[in-house]
Amino acid sequence: MTSSARLYLSPPHMSGREQAYVTEAFETNWVAPVGPHLERFEREFAAKVQAPYAVAVASGTAALHLALRAVGVSAGDRVICSSFTFCASANPICYEHAQPVFLDSDRISWNMDPNLLHDELAESNQRNRLPKAIIAVDILGQSADLDAIRSEADRFEIPVIEDAAEALGASYRDKPVGASCPLSTFSFNGNKIITTSGGGMLCSFDQALADKIRFWSTQSKEPGPIYLHKELGFNYRLSNVLAGVGIGQLEVLDERVAKRRQIMAYYKERLGQLPGIGFMPRASFGQPNDWLSVITIDAAQFGASCDDIRLALETDNIESRRLWLPLHMQPLFAECEYRGGKVAESAFETGLCLPSGTAMTDHDLDRVCQRIEAVHASRSAT
Ligand SMILES: *Cc1c(COP(=O)(O)O)cnc(C)c1O
Repeated sequence: MTSSARLYLSPPHMSGREQAYVTEAFETNWVAPVGPHLERFEREFAAKVQAPYAVAVASGTAALHLALRAVGVSAGDRVICSSFTFCASANPICYEHAQPVFLDSDRISWNMDPNLLHDELAESNQRNRLPKAIIAVDILGQSADLDAIRSEADRFEIPVIEDAAEALGASYRDKPVGASCPLSTFSFNGNKIITTSGGGMLCSFDQALADKIRFWSTQSKEPGPIYLHKELGFNYRLSNVLAGVGIGQLEVLDERVAKRRQIMAYYKERLGQLPGIGFMPRASFGQPNDWLSVITIDAAQFGASCDDIRLALETDNIESRRLWLPLHMQPLFAECEYRGGKVAESAFETGLCLPSGTAMTDHDLDRVCQRIEAVHASRSAT
């Protein structure tokens, strides 16, 4: 059994076209620092997400960091963020010595609850401590309720940054994710729906702001022959070689999304038959990209907990992963403010991410499901 090839959660899936773009970068010696692939990747990406300007950077985290600077977040500011997300959504708040304020999820999407945002803004307005920015995260490939979040934010003119790292290719109310907020960020980390081995993108509706962000990402060098710096800069630009990988990956994005959706549909059809197995909620306001297939387990009904299932899959060399411990429960953020109940906490306790890589075969999917069915059969027999 353990001799089976390891099945990873969400490994890179190259189309085969990326290497030609990389070779082209080498042959023309556009290996560094910038070059034509970078411009093309930005142009094609912006068109794909229907945001007019895009700046390619070294990671999704770098994109978020620059987005926070673009809206003027500085030391001591409060910044609202979803609690139920990967730590990279909130870390850049701390890079600027600002204070994260975490909000719980709603039950329909597991993303930031707009009602909690309403309460938080009303109260912080009264106490004269309105936040400087809001980071709305689209977790697991499904968008947050961006119109609802923006209408709350607009009442106090607070900018909303969309962390769409996991949601490229998903939509919100018939628009691609990234087209609803003035600033949105994406990741091309190895486990994301497309990858450049490492990289990110910041999209903007404001050309001057996009140019400024690009300037910051290359050390804020003032034009001219002298090394003149008036502003703090960062070394955050994506390389032209990796942009070549991105161009190749972007060409197959639609196929990748279609396959992720098929994988989710397969799990739903087959595992949905088992008692105690559910799936992450799907809100009616958008079309998720189904980046990761997440099941929820009612341990009493199913006969085993999500950790039991994870360990059983591991014995057959199959990787699965628990969802994130909500950020307001992390030791790192123990001092931060939190508003909400236990929606994120209970999603964390019951959720399990199953292998969702787009190179998976029907045999692979069958292998995962058989193992989970076997856990249920053995528990219900005792
Ligand atoms: C992956 C991820 C990031 C960070 O992207 P990197 O490219 O790994 O820096 C940020 N937010 C969320 C929600 C992510 O999943």
